[in-house]
Amino acid sequence: MPDDSNSRCKCPRCTIRSLRGPAVIITLGVLFLLSEMRGDYLSFHHTWPVILVVLGIVSLASSLAPMDGHIETRVDPVPPVPPVGPQGPYAGQGR
Ligand SMILES: [Zn+2]
Repeated sequence: MPDDSNSRCKCPRCTIRSLRGPAVIITLGVLFLLSEMRGDYLSFHHTWPVILVVLGIVSLASSLAPMDGHIETRVDPVPPVPPVGPQGPYAGQGR
């Protein structure tokens, strides 16, 4: 099976989680569209909590989704430090 981006996990949980941003953007677009069409009743002032609902649904779905084939994509923040520091072999020689 073709795998064009092997750096990203493709398990259901990570897939749903990655859809959270686009879902919020689409919801914002729909809400502004409704606000433009029906400004008085469906103004953004009244419909903005839908964004919270969408965020909650996506978060719930991602937490319930299985992690089959999950790939941990963490990066090591600090490379392993060698045991000999800058003072190196001369440290502690003057005792
Ligand atoms: Zn994953």
